[in-house]
Amino acid sequence: MLQFKPIFLGKVPRQVPCAATAQRCIRTNDVENVGRTARHHTFFEMLGNFSFGDYFKKEAIKWAWELSTAELGLPAERLWISVFEDDDEAFEIWHKEVGVPADHIKRMGEEDNFWTSGVTGPCGPCSEIYYDFHPERGTLDTDLGDDSRFIEFYNLVFMQYNRKDDGSLEPLKQKNIDTGMGLERVARILQRVPSNYETDLIYPIIEKASELANISYGLADDPTKLKLKIIGDHMRAVVYLISDGVIPSNIGRGYVVRRLIRRVVRTGRLLGIRGDCRENLEGAFLPAIAEKVIDLGTHIDSDVKARAPRILEEIKREEYRFVQTLERGEELLEQMIDDALSSTREKGTVPCLAGEDAFLLYDTYGFPVEITIEVAEEHGVTVDMNAFDTEMEKQRRRSQAAHHAIKLEVGDDADVTANIPDTEFLGYDALSARAVIKSLLVNGKPVIQVPEGSEVEVLLDKTPFYAESGGQIADHGLICVSDGENQQRTVVEIIDVQKSMGNLFVHKGTIKEGVLEVGKEVEAEVDPKLRQRAKVHHTATHLLQSALKKVIGKETSQAGSLVAFDRLRFDFNFHRPLLEDEILEIERLINGWIGDAAVLQTKVMPLTEAKEAGAIAMFGEKYGEEVRVVEVPGVSMELCGGTHVSNTAEIRGFKIISEQGIASGIRRIEAVAGEAFIEYVNSRDYYMKQLCNNLKVCFSFSQLKKSILTFCKII
Ligand code: ATP
Ligand code: MG
Repeated sequence: MLQFKPIFLGKVPRQVPCAATAQRCIRTNDVENVGRTARHHTFFEMLGNFSFGDYFKKEAIKWAWELSTAELGLPAERLWISVFEDDDEAFEIWHKEVGVPADHIKRMGEEDNFWTSGVTGPCGPCSEIYYDFHPERGTLDTDLGDDSRFIEFYNLVFMQYNRKDDGSLEPLKQKNIDTGMGLERVARILQRVPSNYETDLIYPIIEKASELANISYGLADDPTKLKLKIIGDHMRAVVYLISDGVIPSNIGRGYVVRRLIRRVVRTGRLLGIRGDCRENLEGAFLPAIAEKVIDLGTHIDSDVKARAPRILEEIKREEYRFVQTLERGEELLEQMIDDALSSTREKGTVPCLAGEDAFLLYDTYGFPVEITIEVAEEHGVTVDMNAFDTEMEKQRRRSQAAHHAIKLEVGDDADVTANIPDTEFLGYDALSARAVIKSLLVNGKPVIQVPEGSEVEVLLDKTPFYAESGGQIADHGLICVSDGENQQRTVVEIIDVQKSMGNLFVHKGTIKEGVLEVGKEVEAEVDPKLRQRAKVHHTATHLLQSALKKVIGKETSQAGSLVAFDRLRFDFNFHRPLLEDEILEIERLINGWIGDAAVLQTKVMPLTEAKEAGAIAMFGEKYGEEVRVVEVPGVSMELCGGTHVSNTAEIRGFKIISEQGIASGIRRIEAVAGEAFIEYVNSRDYYMKQLCNNLKVCFSFSQLKKSILTFCKII
């Protein structure tokens, strides 16, 4: 509902009176419940209906009842209702108008039945619908929170107040409705299975993991089932987070994906699925499970299939990275176990691994303590967990001390950037800007000062740096501080910029000179030559999409792209290799458009208007109400947040260097444009000339051919 908040508050005019949604949800605060309860996931689908000052309580209640009983066919006598303790109106509607017996309606307190997102903002009483798996237990002493008997599957929120900063409730001008029904929970009820995990939405993923682990889920004990459920749950979250453009990293949403992936790798290893990732990226086991998620997922997100290559690649890399960490930790652990064993032999005591050692593995090598315990156990060694917990506590206090206007990791959500405002992006018009350092991170942890030689992540209030998105790689450049008084200079070389938490730009680089400090004013300078290379390839990508549609048909669509400094890569849906003639025709069209020296037009407009005008949406991008449209007049019109040339003549030339299949029904073109095009042509020309010199023929195709044929005959 977050996207509707401004409409509920009346800050933004409603565009429609009501809406119905099927939304993908991530709830990291339920991560510890995954598999332990039958009903919680980190990823689930929520079906909702919303009213923006249109229908209200009575209609919402009646329709929810109709949907549950008449449409889904749930027996009325199995349904129980909860209402907010003071909400007599809701009680009356359920009882008198819908006909629910009074002993099936429970009044509940503010904690359960008054809904609010965060501390302030739109809120209101709510009413939930529960399903009863054991009606034979009667109506006395019932507790709707009893997981073994009831499941809440539908919540209706009567969004009628705004909670202000002082905690008071202000009635909203318009009364709104926000409902949510969990698809997995409804599936569990309708499919009559013991938990959400056995529904057809998740079970096939669990089966795949069981197959890899050589386990029969049906015969498995509860701890094994729990591990399989964790894998089933987390892989769905991982696939859809990456599909929606979240890349594993150390902060914000990126950290959520990273932790979930690591948890799956770890859990898989505990089940005996180790993959073969040590030296071989292809040995990763997560992609096989992710493929299952993708197979099941076209109803969830129609784009997930087309995005599969990129999703699988990202997962594979992250698993590989983590396995390297694990293996490094394992070597050290074995050494520590040997030491523990030999020292106890000398002293005649029970072998025990020091808590400080387990902590070192955890803190420095990212090695999970559960694995330390397990491996140690295999050697008959225990781990001093009291000492480990003490080290953890010390670490927590150290981090709190370093807590500088930003929140540190809370539970499973690393929210280090929570209090920093969005970064203002200036890079469409400027390549350099003065800015202020809002935060510095080292290894994902906030710090105040960073010394020379360190790798650092810099968050600024504004930036000319383009952050990787929409396939375009990030700008490179420098962040410099000149301290006039002390004649000191600090230079940070930036080699990557990622967006986190929506619009926070994280500049990653190394301090080449000097010391960096939070609060300092800096000069942020994008490398103009590299930016030009990216721009040229980005516009060329748009031209390529148009040329492809002209040559092989309008039905083909983009399935991924990479806009880099040295080349562009464009993935598209097509069932066969391109013919030589088609490739030539595509190049001819694009070089023609470059020669036309067309002036590009960039406009910001409402999404609906852009779509009506025929603008093509870009892979992996999320669009708000207002979108940026990049147009090469008469040739191409795409929704795109990337950076582009202002005139097609800047592209200078375009050449396809390869065309190949990368997955069933998906082809990939790699091409060069601009400076990279000239370099490519020059190097080809150079090799040709070398070849002619070596063969002692002049630079002509017929002579070269003749000479090579003669040469072939000789050998
Ligand atoms: P619970 O008390 O069971 O955690 P909730 O009160 O947190 O549920 P709501 O915030 O009201 O749930 O969300 C609306 C609906 O979304 C719920 O009725 C349920 O069907 C579904 N839902 C909520 N959290 C989860 C979850 N972690 N996994 C699966 N479905 C969920
Ligand atoms: Mg909950």
